Amino acid sequence: MTEERRRTVTVDVGGVAVGGRYPIVVQSMTNTDTADAAATAEQSAALAAAGSELVRVTVNHEAAAAAVPEIVRLLRKWGVPVPIVGDFHYNGHLLLRQFPECARALAKYRINPGNVGAKRRDENFRTIVAAAVEYGKPVRIGVNWGSLDQQLLTELMDENAARAEPRDAKVVLLEAMVESALRSARLAEETGLGHDRIILSAKVSGVQDLIAIYRALAARCDYPLHLGLTEAGLGTKGVVASTAGLAVLLQEGIGDTIRVSLTPRPGGDRTEEVLVAQQILQSLEIRSFLPQVTSCPGCGRTTSTFFQQMAEDIGTHIRQRMPEWRIRHPGVEELKLAVMGCVVNGPGESKHAHIGISLPGTFEEPKAPVYVDGRLFTTLKGEGLVAEFLEILDDYVAKRY
Ligand code: SF4
Repeated sequence: MTEERRRTVTVDVGGVAVGGRYPIVVQSMTNTDTADAAATAEQSAALAAAGSELVRVTVNHEAAAAAVPEIVRLLRKWGVPVPIVGDFHYNGHLLLRQFPECARALAKYRINPGNVGAKRRDENFRTIVAAAVEYGKPVRIGVNWGSLDQQLLTELMDENAARAEPRDAKVVLLEAMVESALRSARLAEETGLGHDRIILSAKVSGVQDLIAIYRALAARCDYPLHLGLTEAGLGTKGVVASTAGLAVLLQEGIGDTIRVSLTPRPGGDRTEEVLVAQQILQSLEIRSFLPQVTSCPGCGRTTSTFFQQMAEDIGTHIRQRMPEWRIRHPGVEELKLAVMGCVVNGPGESKHAHIGISLPGTFEEPKAPVYVDGRLFTTLKGEGLVAEFLEILDDYVAKRY
């Protein structure tokens, strides 16, 4: 069991509740050119269809700010209600003033306090917050160690150097990130933004640093926390590093919304980051999104790849059916299936699932017992085995949910 979720205030982000006792929200970010409204709306719709409950777009220049209302208009026209969040760096104070329709269309503004300008830092920060107050929007104060407020860091490093026993520079750096988030939140509230309009994040790319920072943030405030390992990386490294960091924090009840920042492979599918985020929450038994297929890794007892292919086919079938199942069969996301390669663990694991199949291993009799709710239901054999199993699955879903 995860520890009890830390109680935070609830922030309304365009109709999606973040924090409090609400489910942990999965979010993602587009990688299209925001100025290309059609492409960005299409990718946002794909991310939303995959399950992203908030979608962030970068608003990096005038053409991007000008495109935001059109992106939101297209999404609503297509019947996609997902709130769109604007990511601002360097010029957010200018863009939000110059493009009021953009300011209105966005559901939340992300401000990086390290990237609001060196000379007029507080003034620029206040301008963005004032826009949030004027348009009734929440903000995420998103500190990132790649763009940490250097003035604050220098201040804390100087203080540290004056101590009788100076702390490690890394400890001071992490403290500077926490301080940057908390001081910025204070400044935002002083500027008139409600306490329940602020979400915090402080992202780093190292797992242990991430855990240390978020534990400190969680201990020092009740703002909802947006978790994510920044620049998590490509492929297995990105998935595993994100999972390792997020799982520890989520297990401790820390985190109200998550994003998995994977580097997509060239031509890769952006929605992968949404599926990974969902799988992290589902593996921790925090939220369920999709029926789960347990399949054994295979070994020398299964010389064919038949059962691997079958597990893959079942996964594909579930993903294809889910849009309809989600509406017509609520609760189906709790369904557990097992596809096992031989008799060693096959019947046992199959009995623990709602529906399980134990395929014949090498030298075993070519038949596959199917278990439903822990009992032997039927035995399949021959070429139509996969299709027959999928029929049993569809039938079970229709009757049970
Ligand atoms: S269930 Fe059978 S095939 Fe699968 S890993 Fe175990 S022994 Fe190997």
